[in-house]
Amino acid sequence: MELSRRSVPNVTDDSDNGPKQHDYGAHRRSERNGHGKEHATRVPGIKRNWRRFRNRRACPGEAYEPTDIEHVANICTHAISIIPAMCAMGYLLLSAPTYLHAITAVIYGCSLIALFGVSTAFHSACYFGMTRRVKFTLHICDRATIYAFIACSYSPWLLLKDAELYVLVVFFVLWFMVFGGAVYQYLFHEKYKHFETFLYLFMGIIPGVICVPGMADSRGIMAVAQGGAVYVLGVVFFKMDGVIPCAHAIWHLFVVVGASWHFLAVAHYLYAGNLDIPLAAEQTIPN
Ligand SMILES: [Zn+2]
Repeated sequence: MELSRRSVPNVTDDSDNGPKQHDYGAHRRSERNGHGKEHATRVPGIKRNWRRFRNRRACPGEAYEPTDIEHVANICTHAISIIPAMCAMGYLLLSAPTYLHAITAVIYGCSLIALFGVSTAFHSACYFGMTRRVKFTLHICDRATIYAFIACSYSPWLLLKDAELYVLVVFFVLWFMVFGGAVYQYLFHEKYKHFETFLYLFMGIIPGVICVPGMADSRGIMAVAQGGAVYVLGVVFFKMDGVIPCAHAIWHLFVVVGASWHFLAVAHYLYAGNLDIPLAAEQTIPN
């Protein structure tokens, strides 16, 4: 009997929900049937232990089913960041010199809290065997939150820096893409996974490339690029479910590091905070 698992989701329930929902428990059920049990008795001990850290890769159109250890790692790696995200928003609010800074702090801070909070909720729902409808809804929210988080990460730089008018246009285009991305997630969730990854990278990289020339000064931009590079590196692990053990949890850690780096940059360069940030490379860029 598995710890903390109330029930295996029913394949037939919630099947009337708009777009096709995923069989989140397919891997687990296949492991629980007679064949899986027979197989488990044949594999050597080390190999069997290894299976606790990684399942087989998902088929096209199917969501990867983590092992119990991967589930816990997925939950913990983002749950630990919820309280720090709240503190980050509080710090920016207290440091805000203008109303615009305060509003931007709320937008940015809420996106940080939502990113880690929704992710924790989704992974917890998967681990504790919630209904497919709940998991599907939270998975859509989890992915849609990433679009919003990208736009929110750009927001302080696009709104608070002295820049040309087109930079503000990019800000609104980004938010249009957030809503487009959310609708896309609902309609084509997990259907075109590579395109989904391309959208994230496009939203994460292109606005920066377009906007930097329109900014009056480049202070902080290097730090933004460094944080962005951390996210891009993490995407490698995002695509490695079923290949590298706990790949998704590793991706989560890259997100935590990238988000932390971006927060430090926002606090230091845009809110005139007193944090002593070791962004040495940035100090060489002339004002
Ligand atoms: Zn996740």
